[in-house]
Amino acid sequence: MAKKIVVIPGDGIGSEITTSAVEVLKKVAEKFSLDLEYDYKDAGGTAYDKFGVPLPDDTLNACKEADGVLFGAVGGDKWDNVDPALRPEKAILGLRKGLGLYANLRPVKVADSLVEYSPLKPELVKGVDLVIVRELVGGIYFGEKCESEMKDGAERAWDLENYSVPEVDRISKLAFETAKLRRGKVTSVDKANVLATSRLWRRTVAEMAKNYSDVELNNMYVDNCAMQLATHPSQFDVILTGNLFGDILSDEAAVVGGSIGMMPSASIGECTSLYEPIHGSAPDIAGKGIANPVGTILSAAMLLRYSLGEEEAAQAIEKAVDSALDKGWRTADLWREGFKKATTEEMTKAVIECL
Ligand code: NAD
Repeated sequence: MAKKIVVIPGDGIGSEITTSAVEVLKKVAEKFSLDLEYDYKDAGGTAYDKFGVPLPDDTLNACKEADGVLFGAVGGDKWDNVDPALRPEKAILGLRKGLGLYANLRPVKVADSLVEYSPLKPELVKGVDLVIVRELVGGIYFGEKCESEMKDGAERAWDLENYSVPEVDRISKLAFETAKLRRGKVTSVDKANVLATSRLWRRTVAEMAKNYSDVELNNMYVDNCAMQLATHPSQFDVILTGNLFGDILSDEAAVVGGSIGMMPSASIGECTSLYEPIHGSAPDIAGKGIANPVGTILSAAMLLRYSLGEEEAAQAIEKAVDSALDKGWRTADLWREGFKKATTEEMTKAVIECL
């Protein structure tokens, strides 16, 4: 039976980069005899213009029934003045909630040919290949909060951090399973020297580790992890962490990689999972045909790996991207003297030729 992929191009460069990723998927499907079907849906500003809402029911329902969702990006200046409840970015929150996207996976792998683009020294960046597994629907972002109250004569606000054992169980299981597919090492990041939630987190992760004798677990405080990412990033395989710490560390780790256009991500859901590059809709370059499609192409590879179980096909895409880079192809965001300057279309073609 055909596997159904819902494609949501969204706004800005979204349609250019999702077109590239689908072309690559079509080629890999041919090579590995996969039966893939594509269903295009609207979200973001494009959906607001057509239907008056950023996430039409039809889009969400199609996602719920799909085997995976490939998402471009949403947002842009054009919608700056719309009612805040209907802003394009609300589509992302609606999808997170509607699909129960409880985990965010962000791999950071630096190809040898791109080490010079990192702000870190090449010798530190060489060989970096890690993935951050971040809890996405719990913790302080979703705890009880108070915007303003008076106490002892002073105005204050507060946000409540809380995690339950089942929440930590679910995310740590995913981290250990991810490590099994990789180098078998989980670093759980918390602030257990100060926070009660972190102590429960640490205890629960240790219990889960007992089911994975082939995976090594170590714990690290978040402040140390932030330093280690900048000083010794190649030590990490899987970093497991909560919502707040994960938000900050995943952006820090993305910078280590050097280029926002190259980074994929996966949001793992209770039924369907969603795959998207980490960047936004880049309105400044939309329609110019120069966007880097690699982050979206690598997101499509993650879809094959995590939603369809097609590891070989996923690796084939990742290797093809490395080969295209080795051959000197660079989109404008990465181009330097001595390399071949590629449009979005040419970069896509280069990847397809390497498949
Ligand atoms: P952005 O990531 O869109 O762009 C930042 C810079 O990086 C820009 O100069 C852009 O040209 C460049 N860039 C981004 N992706 C690129 C690519 N693939 N190839 C080459 N260059 C690339 O961030 P921003 O400018 O802060 O936000 C623009 C819009 O995107 C906003 O409306 C924002 O809310 C939205 N946004 C959406 C998502 C999402 O859909 N998941 C994520 C972040 C931002």
